Amino acid sequence: MNRNIKILVIEDEGAIRNLISTALQTNGYKYEVASNGSSALSLLSTHQYDMVFVDLGLPDIDGVEIIRKYRTFSTTPIIVISARSNDDDKINALDEGADDYLTKPFNVEELLARVRSTLRRTQYLDNKQTEEEHIFTNGLLKIDYISQSVFVADEEIHLMPIEYNLLCLLAKNVGKVLTHQYILDKVWVNAIESDLSSLRVYLTSLRKKIEKKSHEKYIQTHIGVGYKMVRVTSTEEE
Ligand code: CA
Repeated sequence: MNRNIKILVIEDEGAIRNLISTALQTNGYKYEVASNGSSALSLLSTHQYDMVFVDLGLPDIDGVEIIRKYRTFSTTPIIVISARSNDDDKINALDEGADDYLTKPFNVEELLARVRSTLRRTQYLDNKQTEEEHIFTNGLLKIDYISQSVFVADEEIHLMPIEYNLLCLLAKNVGKVLTHQYILDKVWVNAIESDLSSLRVYLTSLRKKIEKKSHEKYIQTHIGVGYKMVRVTSTEEE
């Protein structure tokens, strides 16, 4: 069962990274590692994980900042591993969306117990969520937030992670104009691509993929401002 669980370990200290990866591996979890914040953000924006370990003290980006950015597009459980043991750091990380907090030095058995309890809780919550909460529909467009899949007229559309995150951000703010900067801040966790022209490219490709089948216009361009998802219905225009 653990074989299907994939965990990202974000930690700059080699010894701790090895300690965690060995523990995960011997317990049958799949894992990937990132030794700094920017490579972590790029992995998080392009791969799906079941759980993420993040060290707060990274050389380039603070771990709390990573939690904040990741939470704009993912509900994957996050466990903080940190040498910072004061309450403010802990509260801050939990407020930004971390699920659990482990202070260094930690016991490997405790770490594995936290993994199990976090996974149990997530599975419990997943089962509890009603279809209404995890399915978004707009005209012929349907997003399943749990399986992270998108359908148009019941046909699955394959989106790249950035396109998917862009679509979710617009869907969660349906009816509101989102500025270019707001979208870039929320979706472009990878700084290299953080510019307006790449936003245009991804948006154009997203639009093509979701509007081709249905001939419905979901995304409005507000020139010089940003984009808005509009509510469409099969019978009337909005
Ligand atoms: Ca560190």
